[in-house]
Amino acid sequence: MSLRFLSIARVGSTRKQIAVAYGQKGGNQNVAILEKLVQIRHRLARLLGYSNYSDFAIEPRMPMTSRKVLEFLEEMSEQLSDLANRELTVLKELKMKEEGDAQFGMEDLLYYMKRGEQHKVDLDIGEIKRYFPVKLVISGMLKMFQDLFALRFEEIKDVEVWHDTVRLFSVWDASSSDLLGYFFLDIFSREGKYDHTCVVALQNGCMCSNGSRKVPVAVLLSQCPKEFDGNSALLRFPEVVRIFHEFSHVVHHISNRATFSRFSSLRLEGDFAEIPSLLLENWCYESISLKMMSGFYQDITKSVSTEACQSLKRRRDMFAGLKLKQEILLCLVDQIIHTSENVDIDELIKDLHPKVILGIPLLEGTSPASCFPRIAVGYDAVCYSYIWSEVFAADLFATKFKDDLLNQHAGLRFRNKVLAPGGSKGPLEIITDYLGREPSLQPFIQSRTRNAL
Ligand SMILES: [Zn+2]
Repeated sequence: MSLRFLSIARVGSTRKQIAVAYGQKGGNQNVAILEKLVQIRHRLARLLGYSNYSDFAIEPRMPMTSRKVLEFLEEMSEQLSDLANRELTVLKELKMKEEGDAQFGMEDLLYYMKRGEQHKVDLDIGEIKRYFPVKLVISGMLKMFQDLFALRFEEIKDVEVWHDTVRLFSVWDASSSDLLGYFFLDIFSREGKYDHTCVVALQNGCMCSNGSRKVPVAVLLSQCPKEFDGNSALLRFPEVVRIFHEFSHVVHHISNRATFSRFSSLRLEGDFAEIPSLLLENWCYESISLKMMSGFYQDITKSVSTEACQSLKRRRDMFAGLKLKQEILLCLVDQIIHTSENVDIDELIKDLHPKVILGIPLLEGTSPASCFPRIAVGYDAVCYSYIWSEVFAADLFATKFKDDLLNQHAGLRFRNKVLAPGGSKGPLEIITDYLGREPSLQPFIQSRTRNAL
């Protein structure tokens, strides 16, 4: 609520009050708990022979050492500085026009980003959903995945499922007609249903001792609105992207050909698991694929316009430098406190803030670490992971797909080389082998700069 308020509040002093209150919401108690947690984690890591908790947490992941993660974050921050500076200049000019010569602070960021977006992107994100009836999105998405990855989905009717809106599909290799697996689509909301959009592996694939293959089975759960009066309900654009992302996990699971079940689950190495889905999200921002999944709700022959597709992409990339800088700041804090002993977390953020966010100081009285739950639970020492995965996904997209989104040859190669091994090979080895070279940071930086102001 507060963040939404910060993006629409016109009065600077009100924004500041709300931003300060928001930045204090966890309070000193949370920072004290976090500092205690970090100490215990370091002790645990030392008992296991590591010099700090971060090295323990990162050793089984793609970068392997905390040093590598720190270098990655610092390089990212530096490479994004030009872009972020240009974006900040635009925001400062907007502020000058609206409020005169007042100093630009953190409380202004969300509001002027929103204003900048209104100036530069001609798109009503609420209206665009009229082009995304659920049925059309799902059928277009299934067709696209079949075409791209040389798969064939066959719906199995008259089968016993847990609700009459659930659909079951078998998945076949389009050329050999080998059965690869099954997936359920349980996408409509109903009372009492688990309220997230996610994928659950119901069965992992593996080779059995008699030489036959047990095929993988997955279910895609979502919360789409139900059909209404025979008309397909409409999806908001972020929901389209979310379902597409999650269905990419389904295809990853079904395409997995590892010998052992241990390497066939959805629980792949943490930095690798999201790379294919983040790569495939790109198809939601390109007109050729968006048109396959869209159609005006009163006349589905009218797909979303090319201009609207371009605006969706421009909107995604708006102020990417500044948004990433904020994320990198928190990732750096996560990494530093989990590699060094007895760090005063509030002091650390105060010191790092202007260095990373282009000279803008931390808002007086706030304590971002007190309200950043990922650093405390679940992503401790691995907050970098999402940006890391995005970098690899951007490289794969730019190198192999950007100029020919529906290229089945590239898709099939991706399926066989990147999706099929599952966890049976090292992620870096898989990606390097597929790319034919070491992965690079540059495509990610270029993709974020592409629609720069
Ligand atoms: Zn995901």
